[in-house]
Amino acid sequence: MKKTNIYRRDFMKYTGLGVAGLAFPGITAASKDRDDNSSALGTFDRIYEKVCNTRFIDTHEHLLHESARLNAGDMIGDKVKEPWTYYANDWSYLFSHYLGDDLGAAGLDHVSWRKLYNSAETGIMEKWDLMEPFWPYIKYSGYGLSIRIALKELYGIDEVNRETIPALQQGYKELIRPGFYRKVINEISGIESCQVNHWPYHESEIPDLLHSDLDVGGMILGGLIIGLDQSYSRKAGITVKTLEDWHGVIDYYFDWYGSRSVAIKIATAYRRNIDFIRTEAGAVKDYFREIIAGKTLDPNKEKMLQDHLFWYCVDKATERNLPVKLHTGYYAGHDGLNLSRISGNPGAACELCRQSADTKFVFFHIGYPYYEEMIAVAKNYTNATVDMCWSWIINPVASKDFLKKFILTAPLNKVTVFGGDYFAVEMIPGHARIARTGIAQALSELVEESWIGMDDALWMTDILMHENASKLYRLNKRNKELGSIDWKALNTTN
Ligand SMILES: [Zn+2]
Repeated sequence: MKKTNIYRRDFMKYTGLGVAGLAFPGITAASKDRDDNSSALGTFDRIYEKVCNTRFIDTHEHLLHESARLNAGDMIGDKVKEPWTYYANDWSYLFSHYLGDDLGAAGLDHVSWRKLYNSAETGIMEKWDLMEPFWPYIKYSGYGLSIRIALKELYGIDEVNRETIPALQQGYKELIRPGFYRKVINEISGIESCQVNHWPYHESEIPDLLHSDLDVGGMILGGLIIGLDQSYSRKAGITVKTLEDWHGVIDYYFDWYGSRSVAIKIATAYRRNIDFIRTEAGAVKDYFREIIAGKTLDPNKEKMLQDHLFWYCVDKATERNLPVKLHTGYYAGHDGLNLSRISGNPGAACELCRQSADTKFVFFHIGYPYYEEMIAVAKNYTNATVDMCWSWIINPVASKDFLKKFILTAPLNKVTVFGGDYFAVEMIPGHARIARTGIAQALSELVEESWIGMDDALWMTDILMHENASKLYRLNKRNKELGSIDWKALNTTN
């Protein structure tokens, strides 16, 4: 990757971080020069330099359209339709999403929480008054660290406090200009392309930079969704009365978006385990009619219907050679985690791999906290890949340990190592920096503990950060077709 030299120059320019000045929290201690040759870089520094000069393929984000951010106004209400964007368009937006979960868990009450994030009426200093008592307790978590790095890299702000809030607010507004997605993703974060997950699909405005997943979760939980939201069937132009009609809706989405997606995404693990068993249509078609008639299914029937719809979608993805991305492990939000359910994910993952050997399953978020088990899944099943998206900010140290263990346990081509998993593009640089640090730490520790050599570590960097995702999603072949999609033209001819 010769062009990384250019990247390095840009990277240093935008971050102010050179290998000689590893000036962000968490790096300094690990960067001590341990090399006998004092003129040479130490093990960590040499690997970190390589990691900084290697572009990520980012396999998971939830980014809004850039135009939505540019035109958002106060983002509350009708201007941006998705509920995840019902936040005020000021500095507090950067502290929402995951950090908002830590803030809630740290003790901020619900009324204050809404005033902080969901109100454009609350003044920017008053918002700081709400957050200030809790900030010292959440700034060290991965979520907090990610934000602190982003503030430094984007706005030059070293510490958020009462004095720096006005500068932060000004920096926040000034960055949001046409083209800021490319600047933040390519130049500042060193990312080649991102795979964006929306419900059910994101018709990318920047298709060469932002690829899309087709999210079929709502089609599997159809029984729950139909009564609440008929947008799936309306868009497909189908009036749904039978299971066959619902298959027709799913077919429409695969026909229209399948060839324009890099993968399908399923996040039903927020509602149930991923223990989907192959179930014939004939066994569940009457249950579907019950839902249409407005009845509530008993849990066994509901599971069977979802099992059937899961495999209907997965088989379609497999026919089209689209990998199947599955949420596993930890939940976003607070006061809602169900660890006993999540603990069943790795075992169920084995059963999925066994039931469909031709399907490429990608298990997200390292199944945190059950990452040791997920390594076992990838070691054993040909069709299992583990994806580290989100995990670096859930627990940076566990993620570093996961990667070290994975390298010494499972085939190296069974893991992808980065996805920011954010709605706000501004949050990606912090996460990317934590991931780069963790990758360099994992590799340098393996070198120093004599498990691998320096040449191995430098070679692995390309495999982990770039090549595995490129091969899994066939990007060399698909970049051109995905990058030239013209949605406006397609939607007028459709
Ligand atoms: Zn996500």
